[in-house]
Amino acid sequence: MNNIEPIYDILERITTLYRNEVRLIGIEHGLHPVHLEVIYFLSRCNKYSDTPAAVTEFLGITKGTTSQSISLLETKGYIYKKKDPIDRRVSHLVLTPQGQAIAKKAIPPQSFKQGLESLGDESAQLKTQLEALLKNIQYSNESASFGLCKTCKFHTPMSDEHFYCALTKETLVKDFGELICREHTESK
Ligand code: SF4
Repeated sequence: MNNIEPIYDILERITTLYRNEVRLIGIEHGLHPVHLEVIYFLSRCNKYSDTPAAVTEFLGITKGTTSQSISLLETKGYIYKKKDPIDRRVSHLVLTPQGQAIAKKAIPPQSFKQGLESLGDESAQLKTQLEALLKNIQYSNESASFGLCKTCKFHTPMSDEHFYCALTKETLVKDFGELICREHTESK
C-alpha cells in the first residue's frame, strides 16, 4: 500500500497556504475568499455554467451564501445579471471589466503562479497526476467533474476553428473548449 500521509500533508499545507493568500488578497478589495472564488469561477466557466445554481454546485456552498455573494459583487460593480434570451427565468452572471481585472490579478495568487512556472516541464507530469487524484476524489464524492470542455465526451471537433457539442447540439468556437462546463462528462 502506498504511504499516502506525506502526500496528504503536502496537499493540506498547499491548500492552507492557498486559503491564506486568497484571504489576504480579498482583504485588499474588501472581499471574502468566497467572493473571489465566485469571480474566478465566472472568469473560467462557459455560458451553460454562469448561473447562481452552477456557482452553488461548483463551490459546494449554500444557496443563501451564493445569493449574498452575488448581491455584494453586484453592488461593488464586479458582476451584473443578464437574462437568458430564450429562457427568461434564467439569469446569467457576467463579469464587468472591473470583475475581469480582479479575476486576472487575484487568482491564482502570485506565489502559486511563480511556484508552478518554476516547475517548467515537470508541471506536465504533476498535472496528469493531480487530474487523476481529482477524478478519484470526485468519483468517491459523486460530485460533478466541472472539467474543461475540450476533455468532455460530447466535445466533437469539426474544424480548426469550431467544434460541435453533442449534448447541447450547438456549434461552438474552438476557444470555448478551454472553459469549465457544468455539463462536462468524462470520456470513458
Ligand atoms: S462538449 Fe461537454 S463540456 Fe463542452 S459544452 Fe458540451 S457538454 Fe459542456
